[in-house]
Amino acid sequence: MVGAKVTTKKRAEDFAKMEIAGQCVAAMHQAVREFAAPGVTTRDLDAVAAEVARARGCRPSFLGYHGFPATICTSPNSAIVHGIPDGYTLRNGDIISIDAGAIYEGWHGDAAFTMAIGDVPAEVRRLLEVTEEALWNGMRQFRHGNRLGDIGHAIEATAEPFGYGVVREYIGHGIGRQMHEAPNVPNYGTPGKGLRLRTGMALAIEPMFNLGTAETAVLDDGWTVVTADGAVSAHFEHTVLLTEDGPKVSTLPEPVLL
Ligand code: MG
Repeated sequence: MVGAKVTTKKRAEDFAKMEIAGQCVAAMHQAVREFAAPGVTTRDLDAVAAEVARARGCRPSFLGYHGFPATICTSPNSAIVHGIPDGYTLRNGDIISIDAGAIYEGWHGDAAFTMAIGDVPAEVRRLLEVTEEALWNGMRQFRHGNRLGDIGHAIEATAEPFGYGVVREYIGHGIGRQMHEAPNVPNYGTPGKGLRLRTGMALAIEPMFNLGTAETAVLDDGWTVVTADGAVSAHFEHTVLLTEDGPKVSTLPEPVLL
């Protein structure tokens, strides 16, 4: 079990590799964010992300994962997660969620964001802002001695005043040598309840909020998760390393200590 003697030298070395993977993910995000515009297809975005990963010497985590056919997940509008890049052409007024993962020397980074393409209604822009804020509120609870429920509660409580549907069927996860490891990290919870958080842990925290119901459905492609009512959905995710100095967000251009 990863635990008390956190910052053994070995764990620090693991985290250093996860930071390199995380910086690769951040670079993939940045390139996609700059390229995304009306007229661009989600397949174009995938190619941009693949080139960044290649140039940085990282392997995309998603490509081939349980047969997933692309480098990133692209989930427009009512798609929540796991959308497959294809010929879909972005239009003014769309939102699109981009999820990317990278592996460096066997260690993973995983992060997602949702962006607006051109002009979107104020309520959609607010959904994006609040979902990202919920991610940061959740990450700030990832502290030694806190409980998993503290993270989930902070996320859920951020959505509550807005009445957003908080997706429950898809959740965050531990991350390390595998993209998905124990524990599960729900976007809901009870403060002070659940697994005790310890220095040395690494989590991918990833709230998904819907403008309507929390209910989901999966399209016939077997991958794309959509809102059951067709309302738009936002998704923000970072990989966070619990260091001796506190939670460190690895999937940013430079890691950030909270
Ligand atoms: Mg994830």
